[in-house]
Amino acid sequence: MSAYDYWLKPLGLLYISSLLKHIGIQSILIDCLDRYDDELITFSPKFGEKYYGTGKFLESEIPKPRSIASIPRRFKRFGFPEEVLRKKIRQVKNVDCVFVTSMMTYWHYGVHDTIRIIKDEMPSVPVVLGGVYATLLPEHARRYSGADKVCPGTGTEPLKKALGFLGINETLDFDWFDELDPDYSVYKSARYAVLISSLGCPFKCTYCASSLLWNSFVRRDPVKTARFVKHLTASKGLSDIVFFDDAILVGSGFKRLMEEFERVGIKARFHLPNGVHARFVDRETADLMYMNNFKTIRIGLETSDPAMQNSTGGKVNLDDIFVAIENLSAAGFTSREISAYIMVNLPGQSEEDVLTSLRICEELRISPSLNEFTPIPGTVQWKELTSGGVFDEDIDPLLLDNSILPYWWKEGFSPEAVQRLKEKAWSLRRRLND
Ligand code: SF4
Repeated sequence: MSAYDYWLKPLGLLYISSLLKHIGIQSILIDCLDRYDDELITFSPKFGEKYYGTGKFLESEIPKPRSIASIPRRFKRFGFPEEVLRKKIRQVKNVDCVFVTSMMTYWHYGVHDTIRIIKDEMPSVPVVLGGVYATLLPEHARRYSGADKVCPGTGTEPLKKALGFLGINETLDFDWFDELDPDYSVYKSARYAVLISSLGCPFKCTYCASSLLWNSFVRRDPVKTARFVKHLTASKGLSDIVFFDDAILVGSGFKRLMEEFERVGIKARFHLPNGVHARFVDRETADLMYMNNFKTIRIGLETSDPAMQNSTGGKVNLDDIFVAIENLSAAGFTSREISAYIMVNLPGQSEEDVLTSLRICEELRISPSLNEFTPIPGTVQWKELTSGGVFDEDIDPLLLDNSILPYWWKEGFSPEAVQRLKEKAWSLRRRLND
């Protein structure tokens, strides 16, 4: 099992912190994945810093859950060791409730373990669980997480429910996304900031949960986003700003945002690690990105097979990719900044499809970035796999982790095939970037 700080911040909790402060409730944050936390650095001063603030988490091997006992992989905890979390909790006084977030469904053992430690240290304080895992698998979370209350959903609804559970009635009846910034004041020493300038995505790819989390595509006023970025760079001294939007290039908002950046004079490096839509990378967009110092641009190539491109949602075709790369190259970007996401192990995918995508990357001189498929609960592909008898709906989500899946999913790629493809991608990346 592996995890890497490729710009991870608990953005939902940072918005909750802003919302709580907005209604007069104090909050503090313990981010167990903060590699720059003072306490963690005292415990282990090794940073593993890579580039632009990314890097390795501190990790320790822990006993495997029974469900993966026969899988030849080690099981690890990433981020704070248990004693660091316990120390942090002991420093906090007069707490009325602890909100825990969750991300990947297959990380649920980490959620359970975190709640176990909180309950151990603060037995009388209620624990509320929200986040992606709680939203996609609420019944599983109720059964196994140990939380007193599970609040699935996005927007302000889960927070309203959590406050109601605590006897606080708040309508939170305002446009939180437009009016509030995520609360970065909770970090003493952040090296980068993760933001979103829009919510949701108008596409519906069969393997993606975006439409299960957000029922429409909404963009924040670019003036407000630019003002906050200016604050983060000028007042907090952050030099790396990372946008994790699902569909940042949809509509005219991105160009307006770039114009605002220029107008307010922002000096920073920008990153788009979440895969942008090739069809929206026109020459003007590429030039604006170059002028504004974008350093990481990931394009969603996913598969080179036209039939699979269509059957998985039709968000991209090869013509879109060629035009996008032409525009980005003409603007001045190289393989150091541009890379393409390629899915590996999609249901029905052949190894040859991945190899073709790698050849396209080589031809276009862009770095490949392999993305191993994980069935996400509630998606079209999850439903097809469960109804086709590949696995039961109540499977331990850990078995669906992309590094575990090849060990038991006989119709998919073998671990050896995945390794072979990874090595080809690494070698191509090295050649392109030498
Ligand atoms: S385009 Fe991207 S974010 Fe939108 S549904 Fe497809 S994979 Fe998800």
